[in-house]
Amino acid sequence: TGMNFDKYDIMQVNVTGENIPKPTEHFKNSGLRQLLLDNIHKSGYLRPTPVQKHALPIVMAGRDLMACAQTGSGKTAAFLLPMINLLLHDSKELIVTNEYCEPQAVIISPTRELTLQIFNEARKFSHSSIIKTVVVYGGAAVYHQAQQAMKGCHILVGTPGRLLDFVDKGQITFSSLRFLVLDEADRMLDMGFMPDIERMMGHPTMVATGERQTLMFSATFPEDIQRLAGKFLNNYLFLAVGIVGS
Ligand code: ADP
Ligand code: MG
Repeated sequence: TGMNFDKYDIMQVNVTGENIPKPTEHFKNSGLRQLLLDNIHKSGYLRPTPVQKHALPIVMAGRDLMACAQTGSGKTAAFLLPMINLLLHDSKELIVTNEYCEPQAVIISPTRELTLQIFNEARKFSHSSIIKTVVVYGGAAVYHQAQQAMKGCHILVGTPGRLLDFVDKGQITFSSLRFLVLDEADRMLDMGFMPDIERMMGHPTMVATGERQTLMFSATFPEDIQRLAGKFLNNYLFLAVGIVGS
């Protein structure tokens, strides 16, 4: 798409927290399995962006993460690639034990457009694997989405309101979650979704903080986001790329 990621190489990257894993310079020696490397190649990605260089090893090490980087810096792949890699690691177990599979990963995103983008990227990166991804969002007929969600999936991407509809009706549960991603956290805050998100985090079916990996992504890092990171994340690393306003 003619995007020039080289300019990011001169950007300041700051990681804080305990036991910070080394950044990965190339997808090839990042520990991602061959299927993912093939799908990355098909996507035309030559090398990781700065947020990907740092986030990949952090997520692969099983750590919680709060990452701030500007729009267009590649945050989607920064969480999808290591997440799909880890889900595939246990794929045998997923096949054997689950005809119906409860979501292993839930990604919460503010808008229908962004949710569909994440859904398409997830399908692209998990192509030719057993990973099934389902998307749910408001403003569309609920029936088809409910049918899809109730058939089971590994990755569920959705907007806060529609996700809550489904869990409240018992059509999906959060009890098998290994990953929870809050994408575009600052936008979700601006759009007034925090009560919905707080309710999801405290939902009776939600697995405990220490039993899942929680990842938060944001373009800015205002005080409310810092507070949420402190509340929802467990012994997390904080990654900031470039100039992050607040
Ligand atoms: P953000 O979520 O940070 O706003 P996106 O994840 O939407 O950014 O990525 C912005 C664009 O850059 C997308 O079109 C994506 O496909 C592309 N992109 C992401 N990572 C890479 C990469 N390593 N190499 C080339 N293009 C990339
Ligand atoms: Mg994004």
